[in-house]
Amino acid sequence: MAKCVVHRAQIADGSLPSICIVCGDRADHRLFAGVGSPSLAWAMVSPLFGLLAFWGSTLRDAGQSPGGFPFCERHRNYWPRRARFIVFGFVSLLVLMGIGFAFTPRPAPGEEVEAHWMLGVAGLWLLIYLPTFLFMHLAAVRPTGGDPGSVVLSGASRPFVVAIESEQKGDEAKSRRADAHDGPQKVARPRPT
Ligand SMILES: [Zn+2]
Repeated sequence: MAKCVVHRAQIADGSLPSICIVCGDRADHRLFAGVGSPSLAWAMVSPLFGLLAFWGSTLRDAGQSPGGFPFCERHRNYWPRRARFIVFGFVSLLVLMGIGFAFTPRPAPGEEVEAHWMLGVAGLWLLIYLPTFLFMHLAAVRPTGGDPGSVVLSGASRPFVVAIESEQKGDEAKSRRADAHDGPQKVARPRPT
């Protein structure tokens, strides 16, 4: 899976290349600026919180924003669709289990516990939900790390990764040239004319 480092500043100001991060097509939408905000950076440290915080935030933050990640028309709902399944699937699991436990009668002394049928439904849902969720999460284009200045994006489309990397190489070359121009060596040893 292609990985790339995206600067948070570029997510915030919408200056990422207009290439869909999912398929590499032309991207007309900038979405989920919140995913790049440093306030969410802490969440990436913990796998569980990071996971829920990420998917939760894509649900909260589904509107068009000036900044954000580039998505094409077809993929503008790529994150919210997955988030709905993951978040609501998790909540329904808790609800099913809650109901099941609440309605399971306390056994009389010497009697066996007879679990409420709702617990069976919860177990069945867990068997469907868990593998689907894992597959969906691991296969998705998603942030998998970062620091205060940048986000690591995993699974991004090849054209997006290539564009980002060549942009960053260009920036590096530019700053090297700038260093060469105003660097201390130049001041110490002016080139003879
Ligand atoms: Zn796309």
